[in-house]
Amino acid sequence: MINLETPKKFKPLASQAHQVATEVFRPISRKYDEAEHAYPKELDMLASLIDGMNEASEHGASGAAGVRRETNGDDAGENRNGTNLSTLLGIIELCWGDVGLLLTMPRQGLGNSAIASVASDEQLERYGGKWAAMAITEPEAGSDSAAIRTTAELDGDEYVLNGEKIFVTSGDRADLIVVWASLDRSKGRAAIKSFIVERDNPGLNLDRLEHKLGIRASDTANFTLQDCRVPKEALLGDPEVNVEKGFAGAMQTFDNTRPLVAGMACGVTRAALEETRSRLAEAGVEIDYDRPALSQHAAAARFLEMEADYEAALLQTLHAAWMADNNRPNSLQASMAKAKAGRTGVDVTLSCVELCGGVGYGENELLEKWARDAKILDIFEGTQQIQLLIVARQLLGKSSSELR
Ligand SMILES: Cc1cc2nc3c(=O)[nH]c(=O)nc-3n(C[C@H](O)[C@H](O)[C@H](O)COP(=O)(O)OP(=O)(O)OC[C@H]3O[C@@H](n4cnc5c(N)ncnc54)[C@H](O)[C@@H]3O)c2cc1C
Repeated sequence: MINLETPKKFKPLASQAHQVATEVFRPISRKYDEAEHAYPKELDMLASLIDGMNEASEHGASGAAGVRRETNGDDAGENRNGTNLSTLLGIIELCWGDVGLLLTMPRQGLGNSAIASVASDEQLERYGGKWAAMAITEPEAGSDSAAIRTTAELDGDEYVLNGEKIFVTSGDRADLIVVWASLDRSKGRAAIKSFIVERDNPGLNLDRLEHKLGIRASDTANFTLQDCRVPKEALLGDPEVNVEKGFAGAMQTFDNTRPLVAGMACGVTRAALEETRSRLAEAGVEIDYDRPALSQHAAAARFLEMEADYEAALLQTLHAAWMADNNRPNSLQASMAKAKAGRTGVDVTLSCVELCGGVGYGENELLEKWARDAKILDIFEGTQQIQLLIVARQLLGKSSSELR
């Protein structure tokens, strides 16, 4: 077994997040799985506490909002454990508690990560402290985000957005939606920019909320944007359409957020493994780390296999976040982490249901819920297949048009 130590300075944060997962998330986990679309009001107080922790800590807290690449003078040779790693450690603990509740934590949306990654200081000032969802997906554009049809047209000092967005996590509850739209569809992916839209903008209309397999505490909204006007300053990043640079700016956000989604998968995987370990112990199955797996009880052998998979996913995930903290390009590692942890989460949580039999399948325990919750982590922020495609492109030196 690999025993990685949490950096000393992050121990209090990880332990606080674990306490929140144990004392706040777990007790209401089943309640909001059953009451889909009801807002977990218990999170309001918690969110304020996290805001306080964010303000007090130089390393951010346990949500997604703190992720921003910082330049720290001379990066060469310096080993830095910063905001990406601390955020990741917090997320792992909170998702050990409940993935759906983490996803609906006020002011910790994926849009917050996008804003933190690329916003100007003025935008950070204007939009900081608000809850931001992220709207990329459209009915005709999921995995192929370059195919989006939503348009943004400059009219005086405003952009006018038109289009349709689906599957927006926290779309109904957030204050802001970061909307991806094209400035000029004839210029392809280089013209895709993100725009901050206030949730109460009259041009942004909620069509419906999804009913889902898992993460039912988190709302998933579909919107129509109809002549939705936003100020020019709502465009995130560079307004120029740079065909050379292509999609790179927009994609940069994913290098920061994919390790976090991988961390969510690590959290729920560990929850299922811990529960299964104690169920196996109750059933008299001994897991022996000093004997080959295949010479042990079949359930113990399977457990060891799952634990090894989990540890590989965790290492890959920590590595990707650590690279971001150290300003190293991490697209490859971020996709590897997301693919590995997403698949491991699905495989392990479902196998834990299997190993625990009736207890695993019943609603008296959370194992069946974790298996349902884990699946989304292998889908959003780029499916497993898309992550593998990105990995293959990078390793083989192929462009997106050469390998698709
Ligand atoms: C609960 C939930 C929350 C979400 N939250 C958000 C959000 O907050 N913001 C947002 O913008 N989106 C969100 N999404 C959308 C999510 O990111 C997309 O569902 C995902 O990117 C896949 O797109 P798709 O559903 O259109 O599937 P498709 O792209 O149609 O893919 C269908 C299948 O084909 C595979 N596939 C596609 N292309 C290839 C290829 N080239 N090679 C191999 N296999 C391929 C995919 O891996 C998948 O298995 C959410 C989705 C869900 C279900």
